[in-house]
Amino acid sequence: MLDEQLKTQLAAYLERVQQPFELVASLDDSETARDMRELLTTIQSLRSDKITLRTDGNDARKPSFSLQRAGATNSLRFAGLPLGHEFTSLVLALLWTGGHPPKVEQDVIDSIKALDGDFNFEVYMSLTCHNCPDVVQALSLMAIVNPKIKTTVIEGGAFQQEVTEREIMAVPMVFLNGQVFGSGRMSIEEIVAKLDTGAAAREAAKLSAKAPYDVLIVGGGPAGAAAAVYAARKGIRTGVAAERFGGQVNDTLAIENYISVLETDGPKFAAALEAHTRAYGVDIMNLQRADKLIPAAEPGGLISVQMANGATLQSKTVILSTGARWRNVNVPGEAEYKNKGVAYCPHCDGPLFKGKRTAVIGGGNSGVEAAIDLAGIVAHVTLIEFADQLKADAVLVNKLKSLPNVTIHTNAQTTEITGADGKVNGLKYKDRATNVEHLVPLEGVFVQIGLVPNTEWLKGTVELSKFGEIIVDSHGRTNIPGVFAAGDCTTVPFKQIVIAAGDGSKAALSAFDHLIRMPVVAAAEGAKAPEAQREAVAA
Ligand code: FAD
Repeated sequence: MLDEQLKTQLAAYLERVQQPFELVASLDDSETARDMRELLTTIQSLRSDKITLRTDGNDARKPSFSLQRAGATNSLRFAGLPLGHEFTSLVLALLWTGGHPPKVEQDVIDSIKALDGDFNFEVYMSLTCHNCPDVVQALSLMAIVNPKIKTTVIEGGAFQQEVTEREIMAVPMVFLNGQVFGSGRMSIEEIVAKLDTGAAAREAAKLSAKAPYDVLIVGGGPAGAAAAVYAARKGIRTGVAAERFGGQVNDTLAIENYISVLETDGPKFAAALEAHTRAYGVDIMNLQRADKLIPAAEPGGLISVQMANGATLQSKTVILSTGARWRNVNVPGEAEYKNKGVAYCPHCDGPLFKGKRTAVIGGGNSGVEAAIDLAGIVAHVTLIEFADQLKADAVLVNKLKSLPNVTIHTNAQTTEITGADGKVNGLKYKDRATNVEHLVPLEGVFVQIGLVPNTEWLKGTVELSKFGEIIVDSHGRTNIPGVFAAGDCTTVPFKQIVIAAGDGSKAALSAFDHLIRMPVVAAAEGAKAPEAQREAVAA
């Protein structure tokens, strides 16, 4: 089950187990149960002084196993084998159950401990899903920390019937007390905030009390992180407010074009962005959505940013780096069948369509890449492109055309995603040359038609292009003095990590340049916050 190298690594990790705990397996006579027995026996043998194993469990979900600390009533169960991308989740669950401290802020742990009520979570994952471990690990930790929280991690492949009955077509999919709680990547802070209703008001009060910044960056993707590092290195008070620190790279599998990094993956890259930003003492306000920008009342005055939770942040300069998100195809059925057959991330959700028929809408690089990727998993892929030819690179197009289970329709306009019984059953497209409508029977549709900038909240304040991108000059300046912008949310062409990072650095240097030329009156206003300045220097 585990090769010698993995066993050696696991043995080294299990050295950190401090408190005894028990693995209780509920097994049947399936092949997965045999593998589970072997895996658990190996784990137990690697730390037999602290870990005991029982195989007489009688949980309704078989095969499954729970991790139980002696004398505690915590409830964490894995149904199916947590291998592949979830092996790390298993190792962490073993360590945390064994008393090894998690690398999570103490105030988050305190919030989890304070949650009151009965929370029965079921999280469905696939072993190839790179978005799943964050959610699995968050819910596992919550179950270990708070006895009122029960978490069952279910490997969809081993529980196909449940997956079908609950109509799960995207992972991670989380149920709380039998009802859908959420899907897609969620951080532990997001999950806790969703459960703790008073948390938003407390957080808003905390943010509003913050002293004005020299540079406030809105958005924490590669552009925002680079801007923060460059600004903080000038010794000025820097803050980043981001809805989801890391941005789009969180949803990226392999990154092979960030110069000097031969190969990495999205979550690793996002973690590195955060570590680099934190290393300079930047005030990172994660999970915070900006709702409104209020320009300074007078030249050199403070600019305000209103947050969705009601808080107001103030700064002498602001850098907008809110990036972009998947573009919807906006046809009937898309919203209705989202996560019920309509998907956006082939890397995450492709395996759920194994052996089924799918379509990819979009013939650019991402659409053609998705179709090639899916063709290796699903029964058949139909690629639908609006233009009269595919726009992807020739090498990708040639590869796609060489695949036996792919059909390509160009000059084809998607008109509807059809469904029945709550899930997708087809896609309608119109042949633009003949105006004839066709129906393709299928089970899944992947939408890959590009990105839309996250700038709706700026309409009426900052000048935007007809595509909604923030118009910037060569220095990253917008039309509002003291407000700069960088990355995918701007008119800068070619939406790439290295470009966004370069752009963010440029915007920070421009903001610094602006600050040192500010009228003295504004400098005096900024000096209202001596503690804040000291905080920045100390950090
Ligand atoms: P983003 O990464 O989009 O970050 C935006 C930030 O702003 C996020 O923190 C977001 O939460 C926050 N935000 C948005 N709205 C608000 C608001 N109102 N208030 C507060 N915060 C807000 N590029 C490459 O170079 N190589 C690749 O291999 C690659 N692969 C990709 C694969 C996928 C699946 C995707 C989706 C993109 C890929 N890209 C790749 C593109 C790359 O990820 C982007 O160009 C880059 O992330 C842009 O950085 P950014 O900082 O401008 O924006």
